[in-house]
Amino acid sequence: MAELSGRQVVLPESRVPIVAEPDVLVVGGGSAGLAAATAAARNGAEVMLVERFGYLGGLASGGLIILLLTMDDGAGRQAVGGVCQEIVDRMERRGAVHYPPEGQWNDPDSQLVEHYSRWGLVWGRGPHRVRYSVAFEPHEFIFAADEMLQEAGVRPLYHTWACEPVVEDGVIQAVVIQNKSGRQAIAPRVVIDTSGDGDLFAAAGEPFELERVHPWLWFLLSNVGDLEEAFQGSKGFFFRTLGEGRVLVPWGGDARTKLRIDATDPVEVSEALVECRQMVKEEAARLRGSVPAFRDAYISLIADQLGITESRRLQGEYVMSRDDLDRSFADSIARTGHWTKYGCVYNIPYRSLLPKGLTNFLTAGRCISVDHRVNHATKEIPPCMATGEAAGTAAAMALEDGVGVKDVDVRRLQARLRQQGAILE
Ligand SMILES: Cc1cc2nc3c(=O)[nH]c(=O)nc-3n(C[C@H](O)[C@H](O)[C@H](O)COP(=O)(O)OP(=O)(O)OC[C@H]3O[C@@H](n4cnc5c(N)ncnc54)[C@H](O)[C@@H]3O)c2cc1C
Repeated sequence: MAELSGRQVVLPESRVPIVAEPDVLVVGGGSAGLAAATAAARNGAEVMLVERFGYLGGLASGGLIILLLTMDDGAGRQAVGGVCQEIVDRMERRGAVHYPPEGQWNDPDSQLVEHYSRWGLVWGRGPHRVRYSVAFEPHEFIFAADEMLQEAGVRPLYHTWACEPVVEDGVIQAVVIQNKSGRQAIAPRVVIDTSGDGDLFAAAGEPFELERVHPWLWFLLSNVGDLEEAFQGSKGFFFRTLGEGRVLVPWGGDARTKLRIDATDPVEVSEALVECRQMVKEEAARLRGSVPAFRDAYISLIADQLGITESRRLQGEYVMSRDDLDRSFADSIARTGHWTKYGCVYNIPYRSLLPKGLTNFLTAGRCISVDHRVNHATKEIPPCMATGEAAGTAAAMALEDGVGVKDVDVRRLQARLRQQGAILE
C-alpha cells in the first residue's frame, strides 16, 4: 500500500507484469501513429499500438482538424503520397472527401480559388492558386484507420497510457503502461513515439524544446440554412464541410483566446478546455443571433481534445531549421509542401526522427526534431503521416536486418518507401 510521508506519498516498490513483447510498440494512435503502425506491420513486424483514447486519428479525428493541408508543393505537384494518399482513397470510396481534381491543382482561377477557400483548402497570402488539400469526415477517417490496422494485423490497445520507459544502456527495454487493469509493461524491440507531445522521449531524458501555444476547440454546426447567404452575411470564420447544412468552425470562430498554454501541463489544459468550451457556446450563439442562415443551427460536434499545434519537439540527431527549405538531404525519407507557401518543399531527413541517445527508438508526427518555424509545415497531417510511414518502415527494416534503427540502410529505406507509394525528393 502507498503511504503518506509528510507532503509526499511513498509508493511501494512494485513489480508489474510484462503483458506483451511485440517487435514494435507505437505510442499514440494519431495520424502519425496510424501510419507508423501500419507501415511497420506491412513490412513484417509484429506491432502493438497503445492509445489513451478509444479511437485512431488524434487531432485529425477527435480534434476535428478535418483538413489535410497540403499534399502538394504549391506548384501543382503532389508532395505526400503513401499511407496518406491511401486513407484519402479509402474515404473517397465512401464519399467522405472533398478536394480539387488533379487538373485543377495550381489553377489561379479566382472562382475556383474562392470555392476551395470556403472549404478551408487554400491558405496564406495571395495571389492564391488551388492546392491539393482534402476535406474529410472525421468518423470516416476512424473507420478507414480501423480497417488499415486490422488488415495489417496491428494489435491496438485503447484507453491505455504509455507512462514510463525502462531504459538500460541507451535501449528502451520496456514501457510501463496504465489502464483499467492497473500498471503493466510492454517489452518491445523498437519503440516509436507518436504521442504528439513526445511523452516517451521526454521521460527517457532525451533533449527537447517545448512551445507554449494557443489552445482551440474546433466544432461543427448543423442545420445551417443557405450556405451562400451564410458566407455573404457573416464576418465570422467558418468552412464548408461534408454533409448538408453543416459548417466547420475552426479556432473558435470569431472568438480568440489570449491564453497560451503548456499542453503537457494538465492543469493548464483543463482550464483551457473549460474556457474554449465557453467560447464555442458563445460563438454559436453569436452566429445564431447575427446571421439569418444560422438562426436554426445547432452545435452537432465539439472536438473532444484541444487543438494543440505544438508542445515538445525532439532535439535529435538533426534539427531542421528554416534554412532547410528546398534543401536536399541524402537521407530524406519524406517531403512536404508548405500550406501557406507556394512552390517550396521541406525534405525531411531520417535523422530528424532519431534521438541523440536511445538506439531502439524513433519519433514521428508533430514532435519530430525540427525548430518552431519548420514545425509550422511538418506538423500538418500529411507530413505527420509521411514521417510515421517512414518511422514504421525503418523500424521493421532494422529488425529484418538485425541492426539498430540508427544503422538502417537509408538507401534501401528510401527504395522501400517509394515502392509503398511515398514521394521523396
Ligand atoms: C488548431 C490547429 C489547426 C490545425 N490545422 C491543420 C490543418 O488544417 N490541416 C492539417 O493537415 N493539419 C493541421 N493541424 C496540425 C495537425 O492537426 C496535427 O499536427 C497532426 O494531426 C498531429 O498528428 P500526430 O499524430 O503527430 O499527433 P496527434 O494527432 O496529437 O496524435 C497523438 C496521439 O497520441 C495519443 N497519446 C498522447 N500521449 C499518449 C500517451 N502517453 N499514451 C498513449 N497515447 C498517447 C493521443 O491521444 C493521440 O491520439 C492543425 C493543428 C491544430 C492544433
